[in-house]
Amino acid sequence: MLNQEQPYQNKTVAYYTLGCRLNFAESSTLAYRLSELGFERQKGNRASGADLLVVNTCAVTEQATAKCRQQIRKLIRENPDAFVVVTGCYAQIEPKELADSIGGIDLIVGSEFKGENIAACLGNLTKKPEAEVMHTRFQEIHTFHASCSADDRTRHFLKVQDGCDYFCTYCTIPMARGRSRNPLIADLVKQARDVVRKGGREIVLTGVNIGDFGKTTGEDFFSLCRALDEVEGVERYRIGSIEPNLLTDDLLRWIATESRRFAPHFHIPLQAGSDEVLTLMRRRYDTALFRRKIELVKQLLPDAFIGVDVMAGMRGETPELFEKSYRFLQSLPVSQLHPFTYSERNGTKALEIKPVVPVRERHERTSRLVALSEQKLPEFYRSQAGTRRRVLWEQPEKGKTRMHGFTENYIRVEHTYVPEWINTCTEVELTPNVGTSSQGLVILAD
Ligand code: SF4
Repeated sequence: MLNQEQPYQNKTVAYYTLGCRLNFAESSTLAYRLSELGFERQKGNRASGADLLVVNTCAVTEQATAKCRQQIRKLIRENPDAFVVVTGCYAQIEPKELADSIGGIDLIVGSEFKGENIAACLGNLTKKPEAEVMHTRFQEIHTFHASCSADDRTRHFLKVQDGCDYFCTYCTIPMARGRSRNPLIADLVKQARDVVRKGGREIVLTGVNIGDFGKTTGEDFFSLCRALDEVEGVERYRIGSIEPNLLTDDLLRWIATESRRFAPHFHIPLQAGSDEVLTLMRRRYDTALFRRKIELVKQLLPDAFIGVDVMAGMRGETPELFEKSYRFLQSLPVSQLHPFTYSERNGTKALEIKPVVPVRERHERTSRLVALSEQKLPEFYRSQAGTRRRVLWEQPEKGKTRMHGFTENYIRVEHTYVPEWINTCTEVELTPNVGTSSQGLVILAD
């Protein structure tokens, strides 16, 4: 007799998530909901043998969509009998392309219907002759699908906002995720308390344009931060990516002087280091504002970690403008760059901009920015040698004799494995020994 509460008992599922932390948070929340309905995660998350396959897609670049198609085709080859659900940003912006180009998909779920709604559309997992598409135009995406995920016991990603109203000329995200929206501060405070109950110690605030929090509730991001700062048991919060024009001076002063839990760690998208290209991108600040913001961070929080997103090869970025951008980045006291290469996206205004930068030239520019970042990060790590820092230690993989954790200012620290330190904070002195581990640069604390 079918168990009403767990109609999918003894059914297995495998999840494939591409793209950003937000996608991982949403997949994790869906996984939790499906486990409540009886689904078990397929051993090793392998496709073969699973009854259900869920692919959460990304569409931020052409490479990302190509990777999604490749992944979906591979999974269907490995398990042609599984019921296949494709959701996420690619499913929202190109449902027809997916349905027409890949046989074997059963359900294509756009952004309005994703998350827990998917569970209601699985039926008895019988394969469909062709993909059923659940989709609305992006202007009709209104639902905020709450989600909070844990990548391990220590760190949780709390989704505080979704969608975007900025429409930068190169970006498809507003078309993939809809207009800016958010839940109430009270709901997010509840979720933060849940994280503490589950033993989580660090919460990363994620979203698409989190500084724009409050659009649909009449609240604001600063008030959200102050409310979360009161939640006992949270060791620290990290602000995910925040637009420079929305990282207010008041918020920075509060973090520097009053906040008990917000970490001196900022991820700020610049995208281009010349006002000419920022205008073509229709970004909402200029290089003067960006420099002033970085300098204010360093004045108030001298040891803060600052990561900067930058795009190479945007249409209209002449070689001279790229050199200007490069010199601007070189002159900024930031810790790390996250360079990526411009790629054409359907439906974006950037397609009308000339001149077009040759693809090979775009990649060469990205490589130069990567090399610049590889100079800056060790410099920042070395500037922290000899300081005493609180490290939140994470569970190492089985059999490992070394463990690592992060300081509040986002320095990866490595130490001999001490089981009782896991998921706790201890103060250590950072040695000048900057080394590399399988996961990148570390400072040794032994
Ligand atoms: S702020 Fe611009 S780049 Fe960022 S998601 Fe919104 S439209 Fe895209």
